[in-house]
Amino acid sequence: MELFWHRRDLRVADNVGLAAAADRVASGDGGADAAVTDDSAVTNDADATVDAAVAPVFVFDDDVLAHASDVRVRRLLDGLAALRDDYRERGSDLLVARGDPVTAIPAIADTLDADRVGWNRDYSGLARERDAAVRRALDANGIEREAHHDAVLHDPDAIRTNAGDPYSVYSYYWKKWTDREKADPVPTPDAEAVADSGRLADAVDTVARSDSPGAAGGPVADDGDAWGDDATGDDATGDDAARGDSGIVDVAVGDLPSLVDLGFAVPDADVGPAGTAVARERLDNFLDEAVFAYEAERDYPAREATSRLSTFLKYGEIGIRETYAATAKAMAAAESDSRAEDAPEQVEEFQQQLAWREFYAQVLFHNPEVVTANYKAYEEGIEWRDDPEEIAAWKRGETGYPIVDAGMRQLREEAFMHNRVRMIVASFLTKDLLADWRHGYAHFRERLADHDTANDNGGWQWAASTGTDAQPYFRIFNPMTQGERYDPDAAYIKEYVPELRGVDPDVVHGWHELSPTQRANAAPEYPHPVVDHSERRERALAMYKRARGED
Ligand code: FAD
Repeated sequence: MELFWHRRDLRVADNVGLAAAADRVASGDGGADAAVTDDSAVTNDADATVDAAVAPVFVFDDDVLAHASDVRVRRLLDGLAALRDDYRERGSDLLVARGDPVTAIPAIADTLDADRVGWNRDYSGLARERDAAVRRALDANGIEREAHHDAVLHDPDAIRTNAGDPYSVYSYYWKKWTDREKADPVPTPDAEAVADSGRLADAVDTVARSDSPGAAGGPVADDGDAWGDDATGDDATGDDAARGDSGIVDVAVGDLPSLVDLGFAVPDADVGPAGTAVARERLDNFLDEAVFAYEAERDYPAREATSRLSTFLKYGEIGIRETYAATAKAMAAAESDSRAEDAPEQVEEFQQQLAWREFYAQVLFHNPEVVTANYKAYEEGIEWRDDPEEIAAWKRGETGYPIVDAGMRQLREEAFMHNRVRMIVASFLTKDLLADWRHGYAHFRERLADHDTANDNGGWQWAASTGTDAQPYFRIFNPMTQGERYDPDAAYIKEYVPELRGVDPDVVHGWHELSPTQRANAAPEYPHPVVDHSERRERALAMYKRARGED
């Protein structure tokens, strides 16, 4: 038996680590059920291999949960339910555990008599520390382990400047990224390669009735109340493999906890559907039509012009190799049929967004400190204004700047925001309200279903002119002209800001120029602008100049 640990790869298809494990058990190459006859030889006779299979597991890590939000846990649970259903269709199921993975993973491997544990790499700093601790715990228990590159097409170390440094400028990174050969999607495991549900249940049951300790030394119990208590330590990033000695692991077959079991509330936002089937349908539909107008349309939030795949990519419900291969196919088809001449460039524009995701993954990988620190240091430090009332108005979507408020309300309702509008609201927070980008990042982190540390942080630092490849500090978005240009009919604004529904688009976009009486007549319920953009623009310029020591 091999254990496969799902983390941010909630899919069976195009999953590098899972495919590798399935391939191995299918070929009888290793697996705990192959009988060991002496110290070195492994037999592959029929009895030995018939049982060989991969057991999939997901562990609710208390340390991760401590930093999670209602929205993200809701979406995670939906993704896990879809993954479990995919396994059930194959006659298998998903083992679900709660605890510290450093304890849980070796203990579950022991429960299943698994001699190897596989997973796909997660490149963020905390995940890397946790994985190092799990590796040590497995080594201490004599269990083999194997980590794979899966989440991105090119792993974060693969693309470097000619001088050997990681890239900090996207346009150069993209040139190398696009020239590199891309891996094909990996095969979906055969049903026979995955442990059947009865086998998983037996394994869990056996341990529940056994007094024998797990590999990590603690009892592994399916006590029917798998989510009842948090019995693990709270330092998931500790480095002591022996911590397992006191660990108790709850493990169950297919039983997902509820939000409440996990200590979260039902979010107001509709987090949308989850799972590989939905992601594939989205990708297919997008590549059928919208992608061919992507460059021209993607900045208009009222148009359905982008893929809306970010949440699926974040949870790994669709593989990046599969996604990229589908774009390459669409590009090849566009080159050979009678589509518009620029159709291949449109597809390439979309591929560029996938490359942004990989660019930010490598930025975070090489600079884990950017989660809290500016990527680009300003000599004197930035003196943020951080007015709590202004920040609160921004969060509520009540700044009196219609496009900003529409974006913030879309976030509240859908746990999503259009990319152009993310840039506008981020610029507004940092350069109109003069608030530290970390306030915005924290709010997005809580509210976005697609929150991804690398992309979110990259986006915020870009907007705040503190990041890689950042827009220069003197380029400040004008929220009125942005709204006018990208939402000319105010259709997006009106969808999310009902107070402005009956109002003429010119009035909506000129809201800041109206007198208080004119505003009261046009839309009495909608707020007056919290700040004056022109005045704040000057203050922002002065703030950044001071930070650069130019004052
Ligand atoms: P599409 O336009 O269809 O793009 C396809 C995919 O490419 C996306 O799903 C995403 O995986 C990737 N992508 C697109 N744009 C970017 C980008 N600028 N940076 C990195 N990857 C990109 N994206 C996230 O996935 N998670 C976040 O937490 C996140 N936070 C952001 C915060 C700010 C302040 C800003 C300005 C951008 C942020 N983005 C984030 C990037 C971008 O806004 C979203 O990826 C995009 O809006 C998702 O919609 P889509 O799937 O329809 O994108």
